[in-house]
Amino acid sequence: MNIRSERLEKRTILVAGGAGFVGSHLCEALLEQGHRVICLDSFLTGREENILPLCTYHDFRMVRGDVRAPVGFRERLDRVYNLASPASPPHYQADPIHTMLTNVEGTARLLDLARDHGARFLQASTSEVYGDPEIHPQNEDYPGRVSCTGPRACYDEGKRAAEALCFDHARAGLDVRVARIFNTYGPRMRPDDGRVVSNFLVQALSGRDITIYGKGRQTRSFCYVSDLVAGLIALMEAPRAPKTAINLGNPEEFTILELALQVQALVPGGARLVFRPLPVDDPKRRRPDISRARELLGWAPRVSLDRGLPQTAAWFAAAVGAALPPRAAAPLSRAQG
Ligand code: NAD
Ligand code: UDP
Repeated sequence: MNIRSERLEKRTILVAGGAGFVGSHLCEALLEQGHRVICLDSFLTGREENILPLCTYHDFRMVRGDVRAPVGFRERLDRVYNLASPASPPHYQADPIHTMLTNVEGTARLLDLARDHGARFLQASTSEVYGDPEIHPQNEDYPGRVSCTGPRACYDEGKRAAEALCFDHARAGLDVRVARIFNTYGPRMRPDDGRVVSNFLVQALSGRDITIYGKGRQTRSFCYVSDLVAGLIALMEAPRAPKTAINLGNPEEFTILELALQVQALVPGGARLVFRPLPVDDPKRRRPDISRARELLGWAPRVSLDRGLPQTAAWFAAAVGAALPPRAAAPLSRAQG
């Protein structure tokens, strides 16, 4: 799907968490489609520089606020996307109670708002609902293996409770869609985000050691942000709400060591690999089964890691003021970038 050129009926769309990494790309894609976009964000992990490019659109409005607090909108909302939640382990674990309540109380408030406006609702859920999975790849019917007491529980269980709220509202008649997002990367991640792609790139670009947690044998499957945004919009705009959550991610799976080696090859300077303790409850394997997204949405990712990583490296190089030779791929096309 070409998310930039496809024109839909003009709608008023609330994006909670729109100043964050994924949210700012989503806002931009929706504005490009000609919609009115309101971004609601507390700037906990979001950044003003992410929304600066959006301020050139006269249909963009920023509302600073916390999703846990009541908020009213005079204009009728047609769509509500809920992306408000810190997403990187160090950030969501910094204030675990805030994370849990953002996902539970915040999602409950936004669902009520959508119901009051007769708006369609999309929840940004996560592959973390599968925890440290016993099946591989993970499909949407797998109920997951999550620790409800460990340091990741504030996020994993918060997102699971939010899904439960979503499906309770769906049974009560609200049009709700739930995306289970797998590891996504790209431009506009914070240099201090703490997730693996940004850590490795920023470390290599700054001449520091690349920190591999554990032996680096654990796997993740990395989705480029433009692919994810296309999937979120496809899910929101699908004529009928799927009866289950839908996995959105790129099924290409890599060990963390393989990712580190790719970063080493991409960024000159010979950054060393160093090994650090594996965090508690770190999932061993993660790969989405995206058959349902393919079948119901006609969606599949288009940007492989060997194209998305140089793109992201070039962006981080500019962000941290590092030099990167022209190896950093030709720009992706508008539809992909
Ligand atoms: P991010 O941290 O860059 O963005 C989250 C945004 O939510 C930030 O702008 C932050 O300020 C805002 N926010 C946090 N708490 C808030 C609150 N109480 N009220 C208002 N705003 C608040 O993270 P991201 O990677 O862009 O993730 C966006 C969403 O997608 C999150 O809900 C995350 O759980 C989900 N997700 C992302 C990934 C990924 O790999 N990027 C994977 C799975 C799920
Ligand atoms: N990781 C790593 N070094 C880092 C940051 C993360 O080895 O500097 C590992 C982490 O232990 C995990 C994987 O990379 O196994 C992905 O971590 P991330 O925080 O990006 O996402 P999540 O664990 O939530 O999937």
